[in-house]
Amino acid sequence: MTHSIQVKDLTLSFGSVSVLKNMNIDVAEGEFIVLLGPSGCGKSTLLNCLAGLLDITDGEIWIKGKNVTWAEPSERGIGMVFQSYALYPQMTVRGNLSFGLKNARMPKEEIDKRIARAAEILQIGPLLDRKPAALSGGQRQRVAIGRALVRDVDVFLFDEPLSNLDAKLRSELRVEIKRLHSRLNNTMVYVTHDQIEALTLADRIAVMRGGIIQQLAAPQEIYNRPSNLFVAGFIGSPS
Ligand code: ADP
Ligand code: MG
Repeated sequence: MTHSIQVKDLTLSFGSVSVLKNMNIDVAEGEFIVLLGPSGCGKSTLLNCLAGLLDITDGEIWIKGKNVTWAEPSERGIGMVFQSYALYPQMTVRGNLSFGLKNARMPKEEIDKRIARAAEILQIGPLLDRKPAALSGGQRQRVAIGRALVRDVDVFLFDEPLSNLDAKLRSELRVEIKRLHSRLNNTMVYVTHDQIEALTLADRIAVMRGGIIQQLAAPQEIYNRPSNLFVAGFIGSPS
């Protein structure tokens, strides 16, 4: 079986403080992995390492059978979606979606085709000429997802994408992300501190605490057979 992502003995330290401690994770092609844990446990740091936004201290990261430990973010075949959307405020939605593709010198015809497809999948067609300020939070997050979608990446990384939205929008977009995954069937690594999100979205959940993976297993398995008291308490008592 080809692994989509392999994390091998990964350690990340800031100065003398180890934030990620000797982590090992294998993610299968097309798998939806959720990184779940309390604030400060290292979820964003791990995602940033996968994306190539942080240099790791020790270990290796492989994506699609290639050692990308020292590869540039743009060479990793990944797209990242942030909680804060990170859209360019001065550009329209179309501008935000096409920006990276234009930089990569993609022909206009292909860019238009990809934007049309993303707009259809994410239902943002009517918003293409608006600027981010004229969008709701949910619409902005769709555009942020669209930016990864048009790049045709192998792996989507999500860092708490729904945390800034109200409860109703959160559950709507959760359903959409699930639908997106069944349609595209690519690998997704999704960070959250929300147990419900983890249980509803994940093929497998990695429960983290203090930079260490406590348990990595299917939701049912974690729910029914937590490997220790921390996992039992964390997944059993929604905050
Ligand atoms: P999470 O996303 O799970 O809330 P983070 O990955 O953001 O956690 O942070 C994990 C730990 O690393 C925290 O204790 C945080 O204070 C620390 N940390 C994050 N970024 C830095 C940095 N640039 N320098 C020093 N410490 C950091
Ligand atoms: Mg975080």
